[in-house]
Amino acid sequence: MTATNPSLTYRLPQVRTLVTALPGPESARLAERRRSAVAGGVGSSVPVYAADADGGVIVDVDGNSLIDLGSGIAVTSVGASDPRVAEAIAAQAAHFTHTCFMVTPYEGYVAVAERLNALTPGDHDKRTVLFNSGAEAVENAIKVARLATGRDAVVAFDHAYHGRTNLTMALTAKTMPYKKDFGPFAPEVYRLPMSYPYRDAAAGLDADGEAAAARAISQIEKQIGGDAVAAVIIEPIQGEGGFIVPAPGFLPALASWAKENGVVFIADEVQTGFARTGAWFACEEEGVVPDIITMAKGIAGGLPLSAITGRAELLDAVHPGGLGGTYGGNPVACAAALAALDTMTELDLPARARAIGERAVTRLRALADELPVIGDVRGRGAMIAIELVRPGTTEPDADLTKAIAAKALAAGVVILTCGTYGNVVRLLPPLVIGDALLDDALTVLETAVRDAAA
Ligand SMILES: *Cc1c(COP(=O)(O)O)cnc(C)c1O
Repeated sequence: MTATNPSLTYRLPQVRTLVTALPGPESARLAERRRSAVAGGVGSSVPVYAADADGGVIVDVDGNSLIDLGSGIAVTSVGASDPRVAEAIAAQAAHFTHTCFMVTPYEGYVAVAERLNALTPGDHDKRTVLFNSGAEAVENAIKVARLATGRDAVVAFDHAYHGRTNLTMALTAKTMPYKKDFGPFAPEVYRLPMSYPYRDAAAGLDADGEAAAARAISQIEKQIGGDAVAAVIIEPIQGEGGFIVPAPGFLPALASWAKENGVVFIADEVQTGFARTGAWFACEEEGVVPDIITMAKGIAGGLPLSAITGRAELLDAVHPGGLGGTYGGNPVACAAALAALDTMTELDLPARARAIGERAVTRLRALADELPVIGDVRGRGAMIAIELVRPGTTEPDADLTKAIAAKALAAGVVILTCGTYGNVVRLLPPLVIGDALLDDALTVLETAVRDAAA
């Protein structure tokens, strides 16, 4: 078997074809309608409007076929129109689209809970609750941790991203665009230094994972006191903050400190989950077993669904009615999740994510050797990034980063940027992308970096 699973078949041709300049005339017309209908506070990374999407391509309203290296922010890991997911959605919608699990429950919700309890790290007794968005999952994980511990303080990290609701804005590190002028924020949130090997080393700190954990833990003990902390929440690999992979040893040291202090350790795997990093969940890499794990994005083949799964004694501590929501665990979304999980298992997408990572990282490392604007190449599985700096320094270069994304788009590749300093190009291809298409996208990216740096 080659790295591309031979059982993959596609509905749309897996090619990059441009028939207009971007944005084309139809996209431009939609942008015009949007301007007078949609609030200006909603941004879009690219100015092209989608008409169809499958496998590794997005076809726009002008007939351009673009390569998708974003998966709608790590959501469409099984593709944007996986036939199994599409069929499951149609079949469920033909029976009932909603009853509300809190009113008239149904099997799909229970089945998703069973699957997540089995799939998430740790073989302890677990319980699951379903919601709609990643932010809602994070909020509820904190609610559970506070109730179960009787404590208030929550610890989050530099560069963290946990969502856009009030509590999750408080947990999120970056002010622009996520927090600026949207306060006041939820209280009792404390921010600690993250392990960021590239920048720790540049700052002359010990970049070792255990040393970084010791720095964070000593601040918790000084600023809050371990016995006042309800939860530590962390992304095992930070997403929006810049695809920051903490040094080995950092997560295990934090998790064991949490255990010793009766603190709930929450892994926010909203972006890293569901095969993205080459394992079902990123914290498996170092054998870390979270007390609660938050999930969303890749869970349901594109339908809005999120979940928290955690220790039975934590989740069952909450009084009946304390958790829920009108739409949480919508039956159509549950059907989509069960189908998406079947596809991920059948195609062994964790293995496919590792193969994508090797293919991309090899080429990006070679490019970094050639071009001093690439300060760091990092990531795991199909969650890969390059950090752009001014040559010979570690000074972030956000303008260059924007220029690279723009050049890639002009050539027909949708690429996302991220990072506290806006200087990270991140690759999140659908895990069902074929090798030829991925190679073509990497060639476009290489050219874009070379041209932008010249
Ligand atoms: C995207 C994301 C969220 C928020 O998810 P939404 O569905 O946008 O609310 C939370 N945590 C992490 C790590 C994310 O990447």
